[in-house]
Amino acid sequence: MTSTVLSLRGVTKRFGGLVAVNAMDFDVTEHQVMGLIGPNGSGKSTTLNLISGALKVSGGEISLRGSPITALPAEQINRRGIARTFQLVRLLPSMSVLENVVAGAVFGHRRRWGHEARSRAETLLTRVGMEGKGHLRVGQLTYIDTKRVELARVLAGDPKLLLLDEWLAGLNPSELQIGISLIKSLRDEGRTIILVEHVMDAIRSLCDTCVVMASGTKIAQGTPQQVLSDPDVIRAYLGDDDV
Ligand code: ADP
Ligand code: MG
Repeated sequence: MTSTVLSLRGVTKRFGGLVAVNAMDFDVTEHQVMGLIGPNGSGKSTTLNLISGALKVSGGEISLRGSPITALPAEQINRRGIARTFQLVRLLPSMSVLENVVAGAVFGHRRRWGHEARSRAETLLTRVGMEGKGHLRVGQLTYIDTKRVELARVLAGDPKLLLLDEWLAGLNPSELQIGISLIKSLRDEGRTIILVEHVMDAIRSLCDTCVVMASGTKIAQGTPQQVLSDPDVIRAYLGDDDV
């Protein structure tokens, strides 16, 4: 049986005269990876910001397992189990790698303290390939290692829904394979994920379903194979230098 984790109905965000997100409707099904894709500036990060509560909607409703979360502050949405990574990684530079992940365990959906938080953080650092690097400062890390730590930080809170905002961006081809395998391992353990992504290989191999945005509006929805061969989607991507 499938069950809906997140629903967006008519979700709209205006910045002054710009409609960054226009009447978005979609459902995210439990244990599925939903790709949220589209050219630069199409409203993907804004949609994640609305879901996580970092921004408030101008209209529409967002619900988590049937309960409206639209009006809740970001901190409460996080406590209810929605965690996200950022397009520009946000770790605390004054703290060690381990401390950053412990903070994720303490402030996440399932709060852990003391030894329990630390042991959870250590397990996750191993999981993302950062064993033995917990003592390093964030500023000493390579780019992919900051990505790994950010992933461990969000996993540490046991989120029910994970929002990944171009987590693979900026990785070189061999790092990309590592990154895709890591996300694949999350999918294989049944996590529910919204994957905002530009890397077509990743979209094809990781997403169960995709929603395509262009200029704030949903222009297509379906399997990766369906949407990536849709003429409207191909047209929307043409002219986007990033792809
Ligand atoms: P994407 O993540 O798909 O590249 P964004 O959601 O970042 O797109 O941006 C969608 C549109 O909203 C863009 O035109 C962007 O310039 C605009 N935008 C995003 N955030 C803000 C903001 N805080 N204030 C004003 N405009 C914004
Ligand atoms: Mg973005």
